[in-house]
Amino acid sequence: MAGISGHIVGWFQRSLDKQIRLFYLPLITGVSVAFALMADLPTFNKSGVVLILLLTAIVHWDLRDGGVLSRWLYSHGAGYDMRSYITVSVAFGLVTLILGFANAFYTPLIMLYYIPIVLCAMRGGYRMTLLFVGILAASTSAYYQVGYQVYGRVYKEGNLYLLLFLGLALASGFIADRLRRAAVDLSALYETGRALNSTLNVSEIYALALNIISMDLAPDVSALFMIDSQKHLQLQAHRGLDDSRVKELSIEIGRGLIGKVAETRTPMSISETNRKWQLSFAPDIISVMAVPVRVGEKLLGVMMVGKRMAHAYGYENLRFLEALGSQAAISIQNAWLYRQTKEWASLDALTGIYNYRYFSERLDSEWSRALRYEKPLSFIMIDVDLFKQVNDNYGHLCGDEVLREIAHMLKKHTRDTDIVARYGGEEFVIILPETHYQDAYVAGEKLRRSIYEATFTGGNNNQKIKLTISLGIANYPSTAFSKSDLIYQADQALYQAKIQRNTLASPLDTSCQINLNPSEIS
Ligand code: GH3
Ligand code: MG
Ligand code: MG
Repeated sequence: MAGISGHIVGWFQRSLDKQIRLFYLPLITGVSVAFALMADLPTFNKSGVVLILLLTAIVHWDLRDGGVLSRWLYSHGAGYDMRSYITVSVAFGLVTLILGFANAFYTPLIMLYYIPIVLCAMRGGYRMTLLFVGILAASTSAYYQVGYQVYGRVYKEGNLYLLLFLGLALASGFIADRLRRAAVDLSALYETGRALNSTLNVSEIYALALNIISMDLAPDVSALFMIDSQKHLQLQAHRGLDDSRVKELSIEIGRGLIGKVAETRTPMSISETNRKWQLSFAPDIISVMAVPVRVGEKLLGVMMVGKRMAHAYGYENLRFLEALGSQAAISIQNAWLYRQTKEWASLDALTGIYNYRYFSERLDSEWSRALRYEKPLSFIMIDVDLFKQVNDNYGHLCGDEVLREIAHMLKKHTRDTDIVARYGGEEFVIILPETHYQDAYVAGEKLRRSIYEATFTGGNNNQKIKLTISLGIANYPSTAFSKSDLIYQADQALYQAKIQRNTLASPLDTSCQINLNPSEIS
């Protein structure tokens, strides 16, 4: 039903636009001619009305683009307010002329003033409308007063019309203001959507959302809380809050105004001092609006704005913030998904450490960094010894579990800056940025020992599986001078280490026969 009425209204609007463009002038001409033929007025007055009507039609030609007059003023550099005052004054003037020529100040034709009143409301809102209608009311009642004093003409209905004008002015101005506000909000939301979707960086989205809030609602404080894995609302970004007061601010769901909004998932607006809803982190804030940031039923967080004065926000503001919250939620969710997908794409599904793809990307960048900043770079390749036996003795599922335990150990016994990755099967690699050969050797030895000393369970605590690993090391600039050298040498060293197993080998070991620069022999 709503769809059908929407279509009808749309069709009506479109055809009205067309009618105005195509038939406005002929229509007004027709009305004028009819008037001239029918009205009981002297010829001078009749031709006056016809002329003014035609002039009105010409001035309003192409009204969709603001009308001829407004466009002419615009081309001469007049600002919006100036154009509004001039066009509205001209409209009031034209109606006054028509009524004057038609001698119609004492007839209901005076309602023609409603046309410039609407124009005024559309252009300047209710403040401007009240100003013009005030002037109109004052001058019209003065005119009636003169009529009464000089000619003794009584026109009681005149006062009624003036009252009507005032009422209509208020109503039209109010409606126009709301429409304008809705249009501004709509375009702000559109821009918001565009801006927020232009980045997949979560902190940029937080900052952007708060910027948009600042521009539109001019709050004293604004803040964005996001739900963490412990289901607490963590402050992620803010404007205007006291940094020392909100350091690591975390709010339980259901607690206080912010917690309540998260719990009920409904927007809240507090407009005066209220002990119950006073913000612990900003007690001087009196007007507060808080809305859930959510996608469908999934709550991501809460967004709030506040002002130090009472009754600062109205219903429209809350609606705007709510819409903004939904927009931001979609962008934040997208950014999270993107980050998660990227993370998943770089992790090995079995062990949870980095996969080969990520490792090769990182090796590229770390190699370039090492060259650029002349920093050392070490590389370790690891193969688990006799791993096939684990599979044969305990089954592949247990073998998988042991691989996970090994990966976990390798990560545990390396620095956070080292990049531990699964190279394939039961082989692992470690990139050690800014690490000299000797330090890498010590790190490798530490790994060898910890695996040797550890007991693996393969997911079954009754099992005690003992394992060893073999390691090959290479280093820039001690042994390798190209990225492929680095891999080749570590691989060759590992091959050497495999002879004994549970061993660490490097191209610098005397027992290790590796050509230091394989790239030179090919
Ligand atoms: P060594 O390296 O000491 O020579 O002996 P190894 O038994 O470890 O030999 P190799 O490295 O050649 O064999 C790798 C074995 O690791 C083959 C396969 O059974 C096992 N393996 C490789 N990838 C996986 C995996 O993802 N899960 C399990 N359970 N086993 C794997
Ligand atoms: Mg292997
Ligand atoms: Mg092996």
